[in-house]
Amino acid sequence: MGLRSAEQYKQSLRDGRAVFFRGERVPDVTAHPVIGLAVEHAALDYRMAEEPRYRELAVVSEAGQLYSRYYRLPRNSVDLLDRSRLIASATREGAVLVVLIKEIGTDALFALHLSAARLARAGKPEYQERIGAYYQFCRSNDLALAVAQTDVKGNRALGPSQQEHPDYYLRIVAERSDGIVVRGAKVHTSVATNANELIVLPTRAMRAEDGAYAVAFALPVDSPGLKLIASPFGCAPKDPVEHPISARHKMMETLTVFDDVFVPRERIFMQGEAEFAGPLALDFVRYHRFTAVSYKLPLLELLAGAGYAAAEANGILRAAHVRDKLTQLAVYHTTVRGLIERAAESCTVEEGLAVPNTLLTNVAKYQFAHNYHAAVQIVQDLAGGLLATAPGAEDLQSEATAEYVRKYLGGAPGFDAEKRLRLLYLIADLTASDFGGYQEVLNVHAEGGLEAEKLQTYREYDYRSAAEYAYRLAGLAAKP
Ligand SMILES: Cc1cc2nc3c(=O)[nH]c(=O)nc-3n(C[C@H](O)[C@H](O)[C@H](O)COP(=O)(O)OP(=O)(O)OC[C@H]3O[C@@H](n4cnc5c(N)ncnc54)[C@H](O)[C@@H]3O)c2cc1C
Repeated sequence: MGLRSAEQYKQSLRDGRAVFFRGERVPDVTAHPVIGLAVEHAALDYRMAEEPRYRELAVVSEAGQLYSRYYRLPRNSVDLLDRSRLIASATREGAVLVVLIKEIGTDALFALHLSAARLARAGKPEYQERIGAYYQFCRSNDLALAVAQTDVKGNRALGPSQQEHPDYYLRIVAERSDGIVVRGAKVHTSVATNANELIVLPTRAMRAEDGAYAVAFALPVDSPGLKLIASPFGCAPKDPVEHPISARHKMMETLTVFDDVFVPRERIFMQGEAEFAGPLALDFVRYHRFTAVSYKLPLLELLAGAGYAAAEANGILRAAHVRDKLTQLAVYHTTVRGLIERAAESCTVEEGLAVPNTLLTNVAKYQFAHNYHAAVQIVQDLAGGLLATAPGAEDLQSEATAEYVRKYLGGAPGFDAEKRLRLLYLIADLTASDFGGYQEVLNVHAEGGLEAEKLQTYREYDYRSAAEYAYRLAGLAAKP
């Protein structure tokens, strides 16, 4: 098999998977009013691969075989830049919502390649063969992948084996001749409802006593005992005029329960090697934060564009404070874009794979996340209070109200009431709706929270050499 069509992708999701929405089992995710939206959004990936204008970016030809560029093992900075461009283009098509059904999964596959090489050097060569075969299986079947890394974690001050009950981190509860049985729950698992495969990774560094928790593997989403409890956040039906983004685009997250799930031997990529759990968790985020920043770029462009358009609509573009605020949005977008491009250009090659510069990736992700709410504030400031108080889309049409809405809510020349309101609906959907709230939380936490990025930055920055410089200028030979 090679590339799949959007229809083949959708058909593959009708497999009896155990998905629950507000306490009810969902018989067919593609037909569900909320999850179906997420399926359509994800199908964008397959549609883009068929579109002539994206074909070259989205599809790779290698030894006569065509496959999705997401699966391309990055060998150099050009591969990373192409990957970043593809992720940004898909997110742009998705109206600033990432598609994610191959982005996150391939981040995990790349990290598992690095991990398997490390394990092979430590005398465990079997994982390398397994991950190689699994990668080929996903690539040649053009599969959609979700990644469950984040455990529910219970008391954050305690490690996996110190918790009040033993299942706050996913663990191995039995070993059989042909595989293992796992129990526990992962949380926030994006796109699991509409992926074919679920890749499971450890979420943190572990100690020797946490051996049962040091586990990585992959499963088909319809595996017996795997239960996906979908979040209903932002699921109310929406008017497409008032919610031009979120009425059409959706991503689902799940509480992902492993109710004594069997994992066949050939799909296990780590089993008990506690000292290798931390490096695998970190390798995943080295790739995943690069993906994250790549998919934020259309959002930052939209914030700058929406701020500018709101200023035009309100006739305030010439005011000094407005120019200052728009400049801040431009600095924000340009800084993050420049950092992530440079992270690709200054990649390192490890085990034959190009890895984006970890320091620059984390600084880019931190800059993005730390400044997001301030950027939203600027756009809301420029747009005005109608974001929260505007009449509805029907009021623009109704005989009883249209006359007044159209008479009173116009703006600067060229912006009649309808044009101005449509712009404000877009900004409200982006920043002041449940989708706006979802974005704010996503942008703080997804791909690791602010502190995780700061921690990585602290680890990666060369303080030693900077301090030597300071000592030298102070007239001291070296650290006193
Ligand atoms: C929309 C969305 C999509 C996501 N998609 C995925 C996905 O597809 N797959 C996946 O695996 N994960 C996913 N995540 C999870 C994401 O990586 C986590 O939200 C993030 O790592 C933070 O973890 P948490 O939510 O458990 O918060 P917590 O870790 O509980 O963080 C809450 C606060 O506690 C602090 N804290 C936590 N532990 C400690 C400690 N030991 N000491 C001191 N302070 C501490 C944190 O710094 C933070 O300030 C997603 C998250 C979101 C919001």
